[in-house]
Amino acid sequence: MSPERYQRIRDVLAKRQTDLTVCLENVHKPHNVSAVVRTCDAIGVHRVHTVWEQQYKLRGGTAMGSQQWVRVNNHESIGDAVSHLKRQNMQVLVTHLSDRAVDFREVDYTRPTAILFGQEKYGATDEAIALADQDIVIPMVGMVQSLNVSVAAALVLYEAQRQREEAGMYNRQHLPEKECQRILFEGGYP
Ligand code: SAM
Repeated sequence: MSPERYQRIRDVLAKRQTDLTVCLENVHKPHNVSAVVRTCDAIGVHRVHTVWEQQYKLRGGTAMGSQQWVRVNNHESIGDAVSHLKRQNMQVLVTHLSDRAVDFREVDYTRPTAILFGQEKYGATDEAIALADQDIVIPMVGMVQSLNVSVAAALVLYEAQRQREEAGMYNRQHLPEKECQRILFEGGYP
Protein backbone atom coordinates (compact mmCIF):
# COMPACT_ATOMS: atom_id res chain seq x y z
CA MET A 1 0.00 0.00 0.00
CA SER A 2 1.39 3.41 -0.91
CA PRO A 3 2.01 5.89 1.94
CA GLU A 4 -0.66 8.15 0.40
CA ARG A 5 -3.28 5.40 0.41
CA TYR A 6 -2.30 4.41 3.96
CA GLN A 7 -2.76 8.00 5.13
CA ARG A 8 -6.04 8.36 3.26
CA ILE A 9 -7.50 5.26 4.91
CA ARG A 10 -6.18 6.37 8.32
CA ASP A 11 -7.91 9.73 7.88
CA VAL A 12 -11.17 8.03 6.90
CA LEU A 13 -11.02 5.62 9.85
CA ALA A 14 -10.28 8.46 12.26
CA LYS A 15 -13.65 10.00 11.47
CA ARG A 16 -15.81 6.86 11.43
CA GLN A 17 -18.81 7.25 13.76
CA THR A 18 -19.27 3.83 15.34
CA ASP A 19 -22.37 4.90 17.28
CA LEU A 20 -24.35 6.17 14.31
CA THR A 21 -25.94 3.73 11.92
CA VAL A 22 -28.85 3.03 9.63
CA CYS A 23 -31.02 -0.05 9.37
CA LEU A 24 -32.64 -0.77 6.01
CA GLU A 25 -35.76 -2.87 6.37
CA ASN A 26 -36.58 -4.60 3.09
CA VAL A 27 -35.11 -1.75 1.04
CA HIS A 28 -34.33 -3.93 -1.93
CA LYS A 29 -33.70 -1.89 -5.06
CA PRO A 30 -29.93 -2.07 -5.58
CA HIS A 31 -29.62 1.57 -6.66
CA ASN A 32 -31.38 2.68 -3.45
CA VAL A 33 -29.24 0.49 -1.21
CA SER A 34 -26.14 1.68 -3.04
CA ALA A 35 -27.10 5.32 -2.69
CA VAL A 36 -27.75 4.95 1.05
CA VAL A 37 -24.47 3.11 1.64
CA ARG A 38 -22.64 5.78 -0.35
CA THR A 39 -24.11 8.54 1.81
CA CYS A 40 -23.21 6.50 4.90
CA ASP A 41 -19.61 6.38 3.72
CA ALA A 42 -19.66 10.11 3.02
CA ILE A 43 -20.70 11.05 6.53
CA GLY A 44 -18.58 8.43 8.29
CA VAL A 45 -21.05 5.67 9.19
CA HIS A 46 -18.94 2.56 9.76
CA ARG A 47 -21.59 -0.13 9.73
CA VAL A 48 -25.00 -0.44 8.09
CA HIS A 49 -27.68 -2.94 9.11
CA THR A 50 -30.11 -4.66 6.77
CA VAL A 51 -33.08 -6.96 7.08
CA TRP A 52 -34.47 -8.65 4.01
CA GLU A 53 -37.56 -10.81 4.07
CA GLN A 54 -37.39 -13.63 1.54
CA GLN A 55 -39.37 -11.83 -1.18
CA TYR A 56 -37.09 -8.79 -1.01
CA LYS A 57 -33.74 -10.62 -1.04
CA LEU A 58 -31.34 -8.95 -3.43
CA ARG A 59 -30.31 -11.04 -6.38
CA GLY A 60 -26.64 -12.02 -6.23
CA GLY A 61 -26.20 -11.00 -2.60
CA THR A 62 -25.74 -7.43 -1.61
CA ALA A 63 -23.78 -6.53 -4.73
CA MET A 64 -23.38 -2.77 -4.37
CA GLY A 65 -19.90 -1.40 -5.05
CA SER A 66 -19.95 1.29 -2.40
CA GLN A 67 -20.47 -1.25 0.37
CA GLN A 68 -16.77 -2.01 0.17
CA TRP A 69 -16.27 1.17 2.20
CA VAL A 70 -18.87 0.42 4.83
CA ARG A 71 -19.52 -2.78 6.77
CA VAL A 72 -22.96 -4.31 6.10
CA ASN A 73 -24.59 -6.59 8.70
CA ASN A 74 -27.65 -8.52 7.65
CA HIS A 75 -30.11 -9.70 10.31
CA GLU A 76 -32.67 -12.50 10.12
CA SER A 77 -35.51 -10.31 11.35
CA ILE A 78 -36.27 -6.75 12.33
CA GLY A 79 -36.60 -7.98 15.93
CA ASP A 80 -33.02 -9.29 15.83
CA ALA A 81 -31.78 -6.07 14.26
CA VAL A 82 -33.43 -3.77 16.80
CA SER A 83 -32.32 -5.95 19.76
CA HIS A 84 -28.77 -5.79 18.42
CA LEU A 85 -28.94 -2.00 18.13
CA LYS A 86 -30.54 -1.51 21.54
CA ARG A 87 -27.88 -3.70 23.17
CA GLN A 88 -25.47 -1.02 21.97
CA ASN A 89 -27.58 1.57 23.82
CA MET A 90 -28.71 3.18 20.60
CA GLN A 91 -31.89 5.18 20.34
CA VAL A 92 -33.78 3.61 17.44
CA LEU A 93 -35.58 6.11 15.23
CA VAL A 94 -37.95 5.00 12.52
CA THR A 95 -38.64 7.23 9.54
CA HIS A 96 -42.37 6.99 9.34
CA LEU A 97 -45.09 9.43 8.39
CA SER A 98 -47.39 9.27 11.44
CA ASP A 99 -49.16 11.64 13.82
CA ARG A 100 -46.63 10.72 16.51
CA ALA A 101 -43.64 11.56 14.33
CA VAL A 102 -41.39 14.47 15.24
CA ASP A 103 -39.58 16.63 12.71
CA PHE A 104 -36.25 14.89 12.00
CA ARG A 105 -34.37 18.12 12.80
CA GLU A 106 -35.60 18.09 16.40
CA VAL A 107 -33.75 14.90 17.30
CA ASP A 108 -30.41 14.80 19.12
CA TYR A 109 -28.15 12.73 16.85
CA THR A 110 -25.11 13.17 19.06
CA ARG A 111 -26.61 10.31 21.11
CA PRO A 112 -25.84 6.78 19.92
CA THR A 113 -28.41 6.50 17.14
CA ALA A 114 -29.80 4.02 14.64
CA ILE A 115 -32.15 5.29 11.94
CA LEU A 116 -34.51 2.81 10.37
CA PHE A 117 -35.72 3.19 6.78
CA GLY A 118 -38.53 1.19 5.25
CA GLN A 119 -39.32 -0.58 2.04
CA GLU A 120 -39.74 1.54 -1.10
CA LYS A 121 -43.46 0.97 -1.56
CA TYR A 122 -44.86 0.00 1.83
CA GLY A 123 -42.54 1.77 4.27
CA ALA A 124 -41.43 0.32 7.61
CA THR A 125 -43.37 -2.68 8.96
CA ASP A 126 -45.71 -2.38 11.95
CA GLU A 127 -43.24 -4.47 13.92
CA ALA A 128 -40.39 -2.07 13.18
CA ILE A 129 -42.54 0.90 14.13
CA ALA A 130 -43.59 -0.75 17.39
CA LEU A 131 -40.00 -1.62 18.30
CA ALA A 132 -38.55 1.82 17.56
CA ASP A 133 -38.25 4.50 20.25
CA GLN A 134 -39.44 7.39 18.11
CA ASP A 135 -41.03 8.08 14.72
CA ILE A 136 -39.36 10.86 12.76
CA VAL A 137 -40.61 12.60 9.64
CA ILE A 138 -39.18 14.87 6.98
CA PRO A 139 -41.86 17.52 6.51
CA MET A 140 -43.44 17.68 3.06
CA VAL A 141 -46.02 20.09 1.68
CA GLY A 142 -46.22 18.93 -1.94
CA MET A 143 -48.61 16.65 -3.76
CA VAL A 144 -46.39 13.59 -3.44
CA GLN A 145 -46.62 11.82 -0.07
CA SER A 146 -43.10 10.55 0.37
CA LEU A 147 -39.51 10.95 -0.79
CA ASN A 148 -37.32 8.33 -2.38
CA VAL A 149 -35.78 6.32 0.47
CA SER A 150 -32.20 7.24 -0.44
CA VAL A 151 -33.09 10.93 -0.54
CA ALA A 152 -34.76 10.62 2.88
CA ALA A 153 -31.66 8.85 4.21
CA ALA A 154 -29.36 11.56 2.88
CA LEU A 155 -31.38 14.32 4.54
CA VAL A 156 -31.47 12.65 7.95
CA LEU A 157 -27.83 11.55 7.82
CA TYR A 158 -26.61 15.02 6.92
CA GLU A 159 -28.56 16.50 9.84
CA ALA A 160 -26.80 13.95 12.05
CA GLN A 161 -23.48 14.89 10.44
CA ARG A 162 -24.14 18.61 11.04
CA GLN A 163 -24.92 18.09 14.71
CA ARG A 164 -21.98 15.76 15.25
CA GLU A 165 -19.56 18.08 13.53
CA GLU A 166 -20.78 20.97 15.67
CA ALA A 167 -20.29 18.81 18.77
CA GLY A 168 -16.69 18.02 17.73
CA MET A 169 -17.44 14.34 17.25
CA TYR A 170 -15.33 14.14 14.07
CA ASN A 171 -12.28 15.39 15.95
CA ARG A 172 -11.63 12.18 17.84
CA GLN A 173 -11.26 8.57 16.76
CA HIS A 174 -14.18 6.36 17.73
CA LEU A 175 -12.98 3.11 16.14
CA PRO A 176 -10.76 1.06 18.45
CA GLU A 177 -7.15 1.24 17.30
CA LYS A 178 -7.03 -2.55 17.03
CA GLU A 179 -9.89 -2.49 14.48
CA CYS A 180 -8.12 0.29 12.51
CA GLN A 181 -4.94 -1.77 12.44
CA ARG A 182 -6.85 -4.81 11.23
CA ILE A 183 -8.49 -2.88 8.40
CA LEU A 184 -5.14 -1.36 7.42
CA PHE A 185 -3.45 -4.75 7.58
CA GLU A 186 -6.10 -6.11 5.20
CA GLY A 187 -5.15 -3.34 2.77
CA GLY A 188 -8.01 -1.04 3.65
CA TYR A 189 -11.52 -2.22 3.28
CA PRO A 190 -11.97 -5.59 1.58
N1 SAM B 1 -46.14 4.49 1.43
C1 SAM B 1 -44.93 4.36 2.19
C2 SAM B 1 -45.18 4.79 3.65
O1 SAM B 1 -46.26 5.22 3.97
O2 SAM B 1 -44.25 4.69 4.46
C3 SAM B 1 -43.85 5.19 1.54
C4 SAM B 1 -42.50 4.58 1.66
S1 SAM B 1 -41.20 5.70 1.22
C5 SAM B 1 -41.23 5.78 -0.48
C6 SAM B 1 -39.83 4.67 1.56
C7 SAM B 1 -39.08 5.06 2.82
O3 SAM B 1 -38.50 6.36 2.63
C8 SAM B 1 -39.90 5.18 4.08
O4 SAM B 1 -40.07 3.94 4.72
C9 SAM B 1 -39.00 6.09 4.90
O5 SAM B 1 -37.95 5.34 5.44
C10 SAM B 1 -38.45 7.05 3.87
N2 SAM B 1 -39.20 8.30 3.69
C11 SAM B 1 -39.70 8.78 2.54
N3 SAM B 1 -40.26 9.97 2.72
C12 SAM B 1 -40.14 10.27 4.04
C13 SAM B 1 -40.51 11.39 4.85
N4 SAM B 1 -41.13 12.45 4.35
N5 SAM B 1 -40.21 11.34 6.16
C14 SAM B 1 -39.57 10.27 6.68
N6 SAM B 1 -39.18 9.21 5.97
C15 SAM B 1 -39.46 9.20 4.67
